[in-house]
Amino acid sequence: MMDLYIRPDYEVVRNQSRCIACRVCERQCANEVHSFDPETGLMEADEGKCVNCHRCVSLCPTHALKIVKTDDTYRENANWEAQAIHEVYRQANTGGVLLSSMGSPKPYPVFWDKLLINASQVTNPPIDPLREPMETQLYLGKRTAKIERGKDGLLKDTLPPQLKLSVPVLFSAMSYGSISYNAHESLARAAEELGIYYNTGEGGLHRDFYKYGKNTIVQVASGRFGVHKEYLEAAAAIEIKMGQGAKPGIGGHLPGGKISKDVSETRMIPQGVDAISPAPHHDIYSIEDLKQLVDSLKEATEYKKPIIVKIAAVHNAAAIASGIARSGADIIAIDGFRGGTGAAPTRIRDNVGIPIEPALAQIDQRLREEGIRDNVSIIVGGSVRSSADVVKAIALGADACYIGTAALLALGCHLCRSCHTGKCNWGIATQRPDLVKRLNPDLGYKRLVNLVSAWKHEIEEMMGGMGINSLEALRGNRLMLRGIGLSDTELRLLGVRYAGESL
Ligand code: SF4
Ligand code: SF4
Repeated sequence: MMDLYIRPDYEVVRNQSRCIACRVCERQCANEVHSFDPETGLMEADEGKCVNCHRCVSLCPTHALKIVKTDDTYRENANWEAQAIHEVYRQANTGGVLLSSMGSPKPYPVFWDKLLINASQVTNPPIDPLREPMETQLYLGKRTAKIERGKDGLLKDTLPPQLKLSVPVLFSAMSYGSISYNAHESLARAAEELGIYYNTGEGGLHRDFYKYGKNTIVQVASGRFGVHKEYLEAAAAIEIKMGQGAKPGIGGHLPGGKISKDVSETRMIPQGVDAISPAPHHDIYSIEDLKQLVDSLKEATEYKKPIIVKIAAVHNAAAIASGIARSGADIIAIDGFRGGTGAAPTRIRDNVGIPIEPALAQIDQRLREEGIRDNVSIIVGGSVRSSADVVKAIALGADACYIGTAALLALGCHLCRSCHTGKCNWGIATQRPDLVKRLNPDLGYKRLVNLVSAWKHEIEEMMGGMGINSLEALRGNRLMLRGIGLSDTELRLLGVRYAGESL
């Protein structure tokens, strides 16, 4: 039935002189926007269903299509924008919580774009990464304060388990169920080829992907979906998910439409029913409780795997991180509020949490002040969009970065933010077999390898420009950053000086 209140956000513009009514657009659009009218012989569009995913635009053989934002306006009102009006109408229609996907599109400040990177000139010359060695390999986990050898020359201490990465980038947690089998295969194969890691999220590990175990981080979330001994043993590291940047303070939600037979078997839950993981872990109400879970997971895997604890970036993240560093965890992952998600309540996604940049700076600072920075490594995520963001994150104190949305973009995502509908036209965030096969994992994994390889070159260039030849020398080196357009408070929180201030 036509909605009397909500007007379409987009217009489908069809150039009739180019359209040959081949009906490719009709077949490609899972949202059933396009249809053929046999009486007129013309294609039509039900624009209210369009999410601007660009699938039809990209595949139209005669380039007859364009999707434009509608210029149909309400009476001007700076307070009540069209989006806010639509959301009220939607809730009045359904009585339901608004759901969204991917990261928040709201225009909050992006601190990465207000930080500039230093370069060496004359007195401390830059390094040419094409001609001189540049170290982008790193290890994540606890560092030992000193290494002792016995008379036989062998190490006296047992080194804590660590993750070895060729580049300071990992694919962030995306569950099988929220993304497709082919997307998971692409991530797993790319991680293996690149010498990095991908993360199962809270969806368990599909049988077919056990062979990628040495490049897999498995998650233990509050719902414990798909968690069993073999799952833990298959992985290179185990991540306890306490929170997620896109929806801090609430649990996970996978709509029932995406719980196919395969997904339900992997998660060990019923088919077709919403998978809702609780907001808290029901056995964790303190750092001592968290320590017990860390210890249990270590014991279950014979102390051979590093344990990651993932939290959302929130107001007191530094104090929480200090507790995590004392809980026996090897790595802390912090997820900023612009981080992506397969499904989240819109209000939570757009209003809860803090940006990753100040959270990271404060956590690194606090752990250093307390003398426990080497007890843990720090991974940050939540809208890391480029190699420059990675370099800035490391200079602010991170060891490595999780990338999620950037990885999905490499796979062909067009950021239509409709993942929760299960109708991803690009075969990424869907379980519909006809849509899943649109993503070719042979191509997908190569595109991911290309992306991360390109970032590695750029990271080497930027490090060389600073006269730095190892990530170790960059980590927490805030003198390599300068702020621009930031207030005194923001500069203080980030621990950086203003552009133009010398050393
Ligand atoms: S939803 Fe995507 S495929 Fe469908 S009409 Fe809109 S842009 Fe085209
Ligand atoms: S993964 Fe698919 S549904 Fe989700 S934002 Fe990207 S293109 Fe849209």
